[in-house]
Amino acid sequence: MYNYLIVGAGLYGATVARELTDAGNSVLVIDKRSHIAGNVYTEKTEGINVHIYGAHIFHTNNKQVWDYVNRFSVFNRFTNSPVANYHGELYSLPFNMYTFNKMWGVVTPEEAAAKIEEQRKEAGITEPKNLEEQAISLVGTDIYEKLIKGYTQKQWGRPCTELPAFIIKRLPVRLTFDNNYFNALYQGIPVGGYTKMVENMLKGIEVQLNVDYLADKAKWDGVAEKVIYTGPIDAYFKYCLGNLEYRSVRFETEVLDKPNFQGNAAVNYTDAETPWTRIIEHKWFEFGKDENGNDLPKTVISREYSSEWKLGDEPYYPVNDEKNGNLYQEYKKLADKETNVVFGGRLGEYKYYDMDQVIAAALDKTQILLHSFFC
Ligand code: UDP
Repeated sequence: MYNYLIVGAGLYGATVARELTDAGNSVLVIDKRSHIAGNVYTEKTEGINVHIYGAHIFHTNNKQVWDYVNRFSVFNRFTNSPVANYHGELYSLPFNMYTFNKMWGVVTPEEAAAKIEEQRKEAGITEPKNLEEQAISLVGTDIYEKLIKGYTQKQWGRPCTELPAFIIKRLPVRLTFDNNYFNALYQGIPVGGYTKMVENMLKGIEVQLNVDYLADKAKWDGVAEKVIYTGPIDAYFKYCLGNLEYRSVRFETEVLDKPNFQGNAAVNYTDAETPWTRIIEHKWFEFGKDENGNDLPKTVISREYSSEWKLGDEPYYPVNDEKNGNLYQEYKKLADKETNVVFGGRLGEYKYYDMDQVIAAALDKTQILLHSFFC
C-alpha cells in the first residue's frame, strides 16, 4: 500500500511525486505512455534533442519555480524569437519595432504607435469582444490580417471572431527592438533535454510505464490511500456529461542531411493556405551544437499540424470557450465530490497552463496535501 498513486509522469505528476516523497510519503507513479515527462518528452536523434510533442521553451517570472527546476537541470541561455513567414515575407515576432518597420516602414516608436492608433480608430473597436477585435485593437488590421488571422484559425480550427480575446493577450506588443517572445525574467532549455530533467525529478521514485489507470481503475485505486490524477478530467468520468473539446497536434518529423534548414528554432506560417502552423528545427534550441560544443552535421525538423481532437488522439490544448468552460465546471463539481482524488495539470484542470504554471500549481497543491489530515 502506497500513500499516493500519481497518475501521469508529466511535469505536474513529477513535481508532486518529488515533493510528497521528500516529505516522507511512499509514492507510485504510473503513466500509460512508454516514457516519462508527458508532453515535454525529448528524444535524441542525430545528436539533437527532439521535442517529440512540440516545442517547449521554459520561461517564468516565478523565482521559486525557476530555482526549483534548476535543482534538476542546468538551463541554457536560449531565448525564443520565432520568425513569421507570410507567403514568403518574413516578420519578427512578437510584435515589435522590427515587425512594424517591415510592415509599414515606420522607424520610430511614435510612428509605430500612430500607425496602430490609426488602424484601431478605423476599425471602430471600443471594447473588444473576441480575439479578432482584441488583436486589431492591439496591433491594427495589417498585422492582424498577415500575422494573426490565418495562424490562429489554423491553430484553433475556429474563426477569430469565435475565440476569446485572452488567447492573444499572451503575445507581447512592444515599441522596442526586442524579439524575445516572452515577457519573462527567466528563460532557457534544460541542457541534455527535458527527459533528463524529469528523470532527475523522479530519481529514487517508483515509476511504472505502459499502465492505463482508467482501464483498471479499481485495481489501481486499491494500491494507495490517495490518487493524484493528471489525465483528462472528462475521461476520468467516462465522458458521462459529454466530452470536453481539445485541440490536438500532429507532427511530421524529418531528418535532413544538411546542417541548416531555416536558421531558427521556430518559423510560424501565418497565412491560411500553408497547411502546417509552424516548423520547428530542434537543433537551434541548443545553438546547433552537441553537449561537447561540436557542430552537428544534420538537422531534424518537425512540421506541426493542428487538428480537432477526437477520441484516441493526444489532447494538447483545452479549448477555452464558453461552452467548454461551462462543461468543465460541471465536471469540476463531480471532481470535488471525489474525496480521495486530486485533479491536476493541463488536462486534469482543463487549463491552458504553461510549464511554470503547472509546476507552481503542483507545488501549491502539495503544500495543501501535506498540511491536510490525509498525511
Ligand atoms: N499567434 C498568432 N500568430 C503567431 C503566433 C501566435 O496569431 O505567429 C496567436 C495565436 O492566436 C495563438 C496565440 O497567439 O493561439 C498564442 O500563441 P502562443 O505561441 O503563446 O501559443 P502556444 O505556444 O501555446 O502554442
